[in-house]
Amino acid sequence: MNKFQQSQKDNLFKTSTHDPYRLPRVEGAAICPQCNAVYQGGNWTWKHPENTVIHDARTVKCPACRRIVDNMPAGTLTLSGSFLQKHRKEIINLIENTEKKEKAEHALERIINLTDSAADLIVTTTGIHLANRLGHALEAAFKGTVDYQYGDDEYGLTVNWTRDE
Ligand SMILES: [Zn+2]
Repeated sequence: MNKFQQSQKDNLFKTSTHDPYRLPRVEGAAICPQCNAVYQGGNWTWKHPENTVIHDARTVKCPACRRIVDNMPAGTLTLSGSFLQKHRKEIINLIENTEKKEKAEHALERIINLTDSAADLIVTTTGIHLANRLGHALEAAFKGTVDYQYGDDEYGLTVNWTRDE
């Protein structure tokens, strides 16, 4: 990143906790060419039968697809502890099912990557709500300890979940 890009980035984040990937609210409709999410009335949603006909929709890549392409997660969840080693499959299943539900309701909440390294499991997400929901789902299903850290000057959420037997 050069100096100009860095200062652009600083400016982008300076203003606060607003998601820099959100589009300014615009009139009219748009469709994401990547995932087919539909932008209408200020929100991105999945195409519903009642709005299959969208007039004059522009083609705009949605914030979730842009984050995936840039690999710029809004949420990062790190799982650790010996319980994880013994129950990896169940835990990954819970994460995937939670994503499925969240994504069905909120088009911009998706998993970017699930990195299954030797010790920890790291899940990155396109939205902070999914990261938050995953933390709560883990706590509800497996107890353990969770902490949630919202970014001070960057839009983002870091969640750490751990449980030792
Ligand atoms: Zn998209």
